Parts: sequence; structure tokens; C-alpha cells
Amino acid sequence: MALQHMPTLADVLARKTRHADLYDRLPDGRLRCYACGHCCPLPDGAVGVCKVRFNQGGQLFAPWGYVGGVQCDPIEKKPFFHAYPGSVAYSFGMLGCDLHCAYCQNWVTSQALRDPAAVVPPLSTTPEQLVREALRRKARVMVSTYNEPLITSEWAVAVFKEARAAGLATGFVSNGNGTPEVLEYLRPWVDLYKVDLKSFDDRHYRQLGGRLAPVLDTIRRLHAMGFWVEIVTLLIPGFNDSPDELKRLTEFVASVSPDMPWHVTAYHGDYKMTDPPDTTAGMLVEAAAIARQSGLRFVYAGNLPGQVGELEDTRCACCQTTLISRRGYRVGQYRITAEGCCPTCATKVPGRWNNQFQARI
Ligand code: SF4
Repeated sequence: MALQHMPTLADVLARKTRHADLYDRLPDGRLRCYACGHCCPLPDGAVGVCKVRFNQGGQLFAPWGYVGGVQCDPIEKKPFFHAYPGSVAYSFGMLGCDLHCAYCQNWVTSQALRDPAAVVPPLSTTPEQLVREALRRKARVMVSTYNEPLITSEWAVAVFKEARAAGLATGFVSNGNGTPEVLEYLRPWVDLYKVDLKSFDDRHYRQLGGRLAPVLDTIRRLHAMGFWVEIVTLLIPGFNDSPDELKRLTEFVASVSPDMPWHVTAYHGDYKMTDPPDTTAGMLVEAAAIARQSGLRFVYAGNLPGQVGELEDTRCACCQTTLISRRGYRVGQYRITAEGCCPTCATKVPGRWNNQFQARI
């Protein structure tokens, strides 16, 4: 009896694709993909670093028509603290990533094509079905997350076009390894953009499979192009927590905009990185103090609820009135006016605000 070939996950995903938009044809016939900062030059038959985009017969193919995971989350979990507080973020992801961080907390979806232990079956769906479900779940925002959304930008844009038509805001939760081309492609359809700035040391980025320069360039461009941007740094003891690195990192963010929120979050052992001790609340508080000295006005310490004092709250940069109090992902007090201002001194609060607070969580 002839042995049947069992389709691999890569075989299954290769069928869930369509022609990509984000590429150029090089003079030698290869295709240059622009979906992420790797800018892979792909000869016929080659697969990109992300393992989900490939050149077949002189056409670039990109993931299409499925999700690897979908969930309703508080928008504070993304984290966005200056965008529609208290609202539901309908969150979807595909599979694959352009980096391979040893501490990834979404490795089951991000590393699905690299690691045989990461087995996630793709669920076929359409943009219309996703948006219908988001509305049924009373979502305010549609977010592409879990895997790296840049490498599946065509699908995200298709979903976001439907989402916009239904009155939803849209967001990316991304490692920021972008290109000018992909940002131009996303700009009409993406409102909110979270960048995970993992380190300020290019050697560290190379350990994770990337480079620092495209991430910094992406952050500058996102701000200049008018996306609402928040930055997150997962503080890993011994990896990116030296005062000097934190000073340079936060000075960079402040140089782009002192109003750009910076979240410093606590590491816990995950995936292939289990050696460093977990980040303590004291370490987060110290990192936050460095960020303040660097000139950042909105600094948050995340994922150790109740242990970091006022570093979960939003305060007016001018008069220090508490505008939003939080405990973990829950919003307590909300005092931003309908015009998006401080009720005490009328200073404008940077961000994207509803006319009135509409907590769904
Ligand atoms: S998305 Fe990035 S890693 Fe994937 S093929 Fe395109 S440039 Fe290469």
C-alpha cells in the first residue's frame, strides 16, 4: 500500500494565500518583499524569513483567509492606555513571525512554522465574519496581534476595511520591524500602533533575528505619519535592564515625542528563555524613573497590578490630576472630558478618546 503524504502545517498554510501587494520585481527576476524590515529578495521557489510569504512562479504569495487565534481583550491588555479606555479590542492573529525571540509569550502562534511543538490549526474565516463577530461582542477596536501583523498586512487591511465601514477603530500590535512601503500601505486603514521596542542594542536585536535600525525608523515614521503610537519594553533582567540602555532607549522615545506613552512590563520565564529571574516591581519602578528623567510624560509599569503605585494611572502632564485610574486591565476612575482634556486645567490629553467613557469590560 502506498504511503499517503500527510500535509504539514506549511502545506496547509501555503494554500491559504493570495497574491501579495507588498513587493517589487528586481532586475535579476527575484522579488523583493517589503512587508517587513528584512526586505527578503526571493528567487522563484523561495520562502521568506517569516516562512509564510513565498515566491511561486514569479508571484509573491501572502497569507489569506484564516486566523490562528481570535479573542476579545480589554484594550488595556494590548496595551493601549491612551486609546478608547475600557473598551473591547477584538483581537485576531495569523501564524508566523519575522523574529524568533526566545522569550516569546505568543510562541504557539508566532513560531508555528519553525517549532514542531507549536501546533495551531488555522481556522478559515472572512473579514465580514470577523467584523460581524466583533460587533456582536460589542468591540470598539479591531486589533491584529498574537503573531507579527506586518508579515500578514494584506489580510489585516482587508479586515480593517470592513471594520472601518462598521465604525470600528483599528490597531496593530507589532514588533515595529517595518519598512516605509508597508507603513504607507497601512496608513489609510490603521489608527493605533503599538511597537514592542525590545532593546536599544543592535547585538540584542540580532540575537532575536532582527536589527535595531528598522525598528527605530518605523517608530519615527509612525509618529510623523499620524498613527497613534504607544511603545512597550519587556524588561528582562540581564538582557535590556542596564540603566544606560534604558536611558538611551527612553531618550530616543522622548526625542520622537515626549507624549508617546512608554510601558515597561515585567518578564516571566517563557518558551526557550527561562534562566533570568522574573522582573520585580522595584525594577519596573526604577526603569520608570529613568524614563521620566528622559523627559517622557506618560510612563506606565505593567502586568504587576497593585504593586507599582501610581504607575498604572494616567495623570495630567500639566497639573498632575489623576485622569484615569487603573488596576491591571480594569479602569476605575475616568475623568477626561468629552473634548479629550484634563477637567482641572483643560490641557489636552494626547490620545484617541471617545466623547464619553464607555467601559465594556
Ligand atoms: S514579511 Fe519579511 S520575512 Fe517575510 S518575506 Fe517579507 S520581508 Fe521576508
